[in-house]
Amino acid sequence: TAATPSDLEIARAATLRPIAEIAASAGIPEEAIEPYGRYKAKIDVAQLPPASALGQVVLVSAISPTPAGEGKSTLTVGLADALARAGKRTMVAIREPSLGPVLGMKGGATGGGRSQILPMDDINLHFTGDFHAITSANNALCALIDNHMFQGNELAIDPRRITFRRVMDMNDRSLREIVVGLGGPAQGVPRQDGFDITVASEVMAVFCLASSPRDLTERLARITIGYTYDRRPVRVADLGAQGVMAMLLKDAIKPNLVQTIAGTPALVHGGPFANIAHGCNSVIATTTARRLAEIVVTEAGFGADLGAEKFVDIKARCADVAPSAVVLVATVRALKHHGGLPLDRLTEPDVAALESGLPNLARHLSTVRKFGLEPVVAVNRFATDTDEELAAILAWCRQAGVRAAVADVWGRGGGDDGGDELAQEVLAALSAPGECRQLYPLDLPVEEKIRTIVREVYGGADAEFSEAARRQLAQIRENGWDALPVCMAKTQYSFSDNPSLLGAPEGFTVHVRELRARTGAGFIIAVTGTLMTMPGLPKNPGALRMGLDELGRPEGLF
Ligand code: ADP
Repeated sequence: TAATPSDLEIARAATLRPIAEIAASAGIPEEAIEPYGRYKAKIDVAQLPPASALGQVVLVSAISPTPAGEGKSTLTVGLADALARAGKRTMVAIREPSLGPVLGMKGGATGGGRSQILPMDDINLHFTGDFHAITSANNALCALIDNHMFQGNELAIDPRRITFRRVMDMNDRSLREIVVGLGGPAQGVPRQDGFDITVASEVMAVFCLASSPRDLTERLARITIGYTYDRRPVRVADLGAQGVMAMLLKDAIKPNLVQTIAGTPALVHGGPFANIAHGCNSVIATTTARRLAEIVVTEAGFGADLGAEKFVDIKARCADVAPSAVVLVATVRALKHHGGLPLDRLTEPDVAALESGLPNLARHLSTVRKFGLEPVVAVNRFATDTDEELAAILAWCRQAGVRAAVADVWGRGGGDDGGDELAQEVLAALSAPGECRQLYPLDLPVEEKIRTIVREVYGGADAEFSEAARRQLAQIRENGWDALPVCMAKTQYSFSDNPSLLGAPEGFTVHVRELRARTGAGFIIAVTGTLMTMPGLPKNPGALRMGLDELGRPEGLF
């Protein structure tokens, strides 16, 4: 309605504190701060004093979402503000937004309402240039690959079997499949190529999983770029390109410090796709936040079946970031959708539909417990929710023996009282922290790892592999990649690979079409359904409503 201010209007009305003040409040010494303007800074981690203790990690995940998103980022920010208000030294650690969705749909990735990270327009646009640097590192490798073939192709790289693609941070479907090297012998070796969006780059996944500059270089060296004519994998190390790629990332790899509306320090750093990669902020930012704060609130993409599973089985396996508690965001509207109400009727009060949707929440709760962690349900309150609907969720949670609270951090802010009850539940969960454990051991064959995820997390019956996938499984074994963890690329809307199968379906089979080895990031992507690595723009892109006002400030951005 006209009375509701937009996220941008709320953000603009907030008073920002100079970034040096935020740094000081987080215990970051001046020599570790590299300011980018007045309200953003990079942190030189090497200049931080040794930590006396490491903070606890709270992972924010969600039930299976609707296309609008259920408010994970909003809750992440609001919960951190509420914990800070309760007297805890708290930091937010979340991923950076991609320009693709910013220009595509109206909607940012820095929270919403009274729970936002600022300066939201900068963060959602070019921020501190990290995505540019990642794009450049990726494309430098592409140029070196094509140059290697042009200069005689000593490695015998098969131009038909290059898997590493060019990237840009834009939704541009016309670039999905292209031909490069046309124009005759002087222009290069013609071959089919294509662009992905930067967040789908393996360089982005590597960047986010690297624990140090050295680990970054080593992971870059391990990236497989394609295969030789006799089908042997070719690595970045074979081309010797890891050094220049790491160098191009020298500033990007430093975490970015910003603040929430309530002044809570936030590290916003790295942003891998949640389907083709693990979907959470950088390991360096999360471990840095743990050194500085008592509690670190972080987020993983999509629902707990994807985000929390990958956080535990991929990210927490390669770094000391295991969560002590998991917050599961649920909304009245998503539960009603899982209970059978169509998307255009989700604002109608309907306790019966909501109750029919609760099995979706139940299955995500049981997943979190399989990781040895204690879930806390955060009901993200919308203006259209009725008291009866909210009470029904809380009553169900009480019966299920799970901590739960309604949070209005979007409307009232966690810095005010909108997240107090949730913060108390989270603090109670943290006082008896879980012992995080992975779902599967790495020595299980890739095929069996996938089956384990399907059965234990999705509640399905089995996984079925296409002929191509079975061939790729054999190659994975031959190339010695069988001990890598699995990164599932599956629809976020359903536990199954069929986006219209809502609620908590059972007995289904997940179809694995293809496997892709990401030997630098260190996981095997299992592709189910269609995998989009270069999105397109919608018919009415948000971009066409954007501009600058007479003061040079963005307009129409959210
Ligand atoms: P996610 O991280 O799960 O994708 P976001 O936190 O980005 O979700 O929220 C998605 C959109 O919904 C944002 O535009 C946000 O402003 C809006 N939103 C979130 N919570 C609420 C709420 N309680 N009431 C109204 N709008 C909300």
